[in-house]
Amino acid sequence: MSEFEDNARHIMLLSGGKDSTALALYMRDKNPDIEFEYLFCDTHKELPEIYEYLARIEAYIGTPVTRLTSGMDERGFDHYLKLYGGYLPSAQMRWCTRLLKIEPLEKHVGDDPVVLYVGIRADERRSGYISTKKNIRPVFPFKEDGLNKADIFRILEESGVGIPKYYEWRSRSGCYFCFFQQRAEWVRLKQRHSDLYEMAKQYEKEEEGYTWSQAESLSDLEKPERIEEILAREQDRKDRLAKKRKPQSLAQAFGYEELSEDAEAGCLVCHL
Ligand code: SF4
Repeated sequence: MSEFEDNARHIMLLSGGKDSTALALYMRDKNPDIEFEYLFCDTHKELPEIYEYLARIEAYIGTPVTRLTSGMDERGFDHYLKLYGGYLPSAQMRWCTRLLKIEPLEKHVGDDPVVLYVGIRADERRSGYISTKKNIRPVFPFKEDGLNKADIFRILEESGVGIPKYYEWRSRSGCYFCFFQQRAEWVRLKQRHSDLYEMAKQYEKEEEGYTWSQAESLSDLEKPERIEEILAREQDRKDRLAKKRKPQSLAQAFGYEELSEDAEAGCLVCHL
């Protein structure tokens, strides 16, 4: 270890997703002498499955995951939405990630030297912003050790922690209304968590053009004929993918692989 690493805090930033969880398990087994801090930045709008999964992770690692929220008074998404005049975040204006995920982390660590473990895999091309603070040094163990998606599923399956339950119907962790969601995932949010779908709808102001998906409001998306069309298109895509390859892993056999295909487009901080 370098002198910096010797004196640093070792932070494992969990998103509630498969990659950051697998990294926490992997590093804990690989470096039992390092005292890791496990953090989760809570927007107060995460999927219920994520809170359940965090509890499973805690039971496995035997250490509590510290929940960070924005500000001392635990201001969450709704507070900042008001400040932004109801302007919903989007892939182009991602104020939510900065205010609710990155800033709480930076405040929490202050000026301490930090090694931040990031779960980007060897088979991913993405890189991204975590923090510009000089005292926070990101490291990418999966990339360094050449671990890919199949390895991540194996780590999760072998540990018994398993795959996050939301993976049955959605490719990414994060807020229930995350704008990175694919249309078929919005449909399944409605099917699985109709209350959350209704709550997501309440945020939209169609007349002002504030909708989660730029091309379509959630009221339009939930029309029966539109749902039918979206699901048919998704099935078609899955069929085409299935023809290209035979299932090789448990994850692929259950269709998780297909769901996660587009996950690389998500947010580096929220969707690991
Ligand atoms: S999960 Fe999506 S909506 Fe939530 S903070 Fe991250 S990018 Fe924003």
